[in-house]
Amino acid sequence: MPVKRKIVDVLEDIPRTKVLYDEPMSNYTSLRVGGKADALVVINSEEQLSKIVNRLKNENIDFFPAGNLTNIIIRDGGYRGVILLMTGLKKVVCQRFSDGRQVIFAEAGASLDSVISLALAEELTGMEFCAGIPGSVGGAVRMNAGAYGKEMKDVLEKIYLLDVDGTKKDLHRQDISFGYRKINLPLQTIILAAKFRVEKGETKSIKNRMKEIMQWRREKHPLEYPSAGSVFKNIPGQPAGKIIEELGIKGKSCGDAQISPKHANFIVNKGKAKAADVLKLIAFVQEKVKKEKNINLETEVVIIGED
Ligand SMILES: Cc1cc2nc3c(=O)[nH]c(=O)nc-3n(C[C@H](O)[C@H](O)[C@H](O)COP(=O)(O)OP(=O)(O)OC[C@H]3O[C@@H](n4cnc5c(N)ncnc54)[C@H](O)[C@@H]3O)c2cc1C
Repeated sequence: MPVKRKIVDVLEDIPRTKVLYDEPMSNYTSLRVGGKADALVVINSEEQLSKIVNRLKNENIDFFPAGNLTNIIIRDGGYRGVILLMTGLKKVVCQRFSDGRQVIFAEAGASLDSVISLALAEELTGMEFCAGIPGSVGGAVRMNAGAYGKEMKDVLEKIYLLDVDGTKKDLHRQDISFGYRKINLPLQTIILAAKFRVEKGETKSIKNRMKEIMQWRREKHPLEYPSAGSVFKNIPGQPAGKIIEELGIKGKSCGDAQISPKHANFIVNKGKAKAADVLKLIAFVQEKVKKEKNINLETEVVIIGED
């Protein structure tokens, strides 16, 4: 039976589940490229997610959890399987304990922006480094997102998961091993929520720090065009952007995809770029950097789907 027919059968009778078939993923990715997904489901409860995942596993149908799709390239042939868009799980609350500890609990689909907005409103400091990272909590945790000298690992206290075997479990920070833009979770594990450690702060200094970061981003990053943020991982002591800039290839284009003249580690979509254009530019940069500097640049962006 074709995958799509199987997906329809599997998802048909799950209550309150809206499934979009043959959905163009370019409408969802921050880079505005990507072919059609067989199906896309917006997840709005843990129970619904759990049911869907169990059924997809039983039928051997591929699935992919996604947040705000700000760090993803989906190839032009699209994705065979189901994209689970976590953005319906978006609760964010602040919890205070009798011993004085304070945490922010956030569901996976909540935006980092909503987390830092709550922190600011509650005068809690620690999460300011997330200002301007356009991802969701789940995506940020999965990628160990970071900026300005801090990463998720520095603030994460606990994560709540739907494990590969379909059971719910939680992991404390000491049980998680963090790497550069990754954590050690099996691919099919889904992050349901996270708890972040924060401290009592002062509105003015929290606001100032966030403003400073946003200002820096506006100056350095090509925010005027769609992108997926930094394309390549930095090499210890050598920012990927600097390595690329030294080769003099800023501004190089392939179709409407361009190595940003403003920041060499960003590839921007100047209009109608295809995923293939972006991937050609990525390959071009990797080859050139290898040839001229003998460095293997790895991608930070996650690449999925079919050509
Ligand atoms: C303008 C711009 C600036 C950026 N600046 C930064 C920066 O300063 N620092 C930085 O680190 N990143 C940055 N990024 C990249 C990106 O925003 C972050 O990596 C972000 O955390 C990704 O979150 P997301 O929700 O968009 O994840 P997605 O792109 O949707 O997914 C990324 C990965 O996480 C997985 N994932 C998503 N949700 C879940 C879940 N609930 N459970 C399990 N896995 C999940 C996906 O399967 C995928 O592998 C930037 C991007 C842009 C466009």
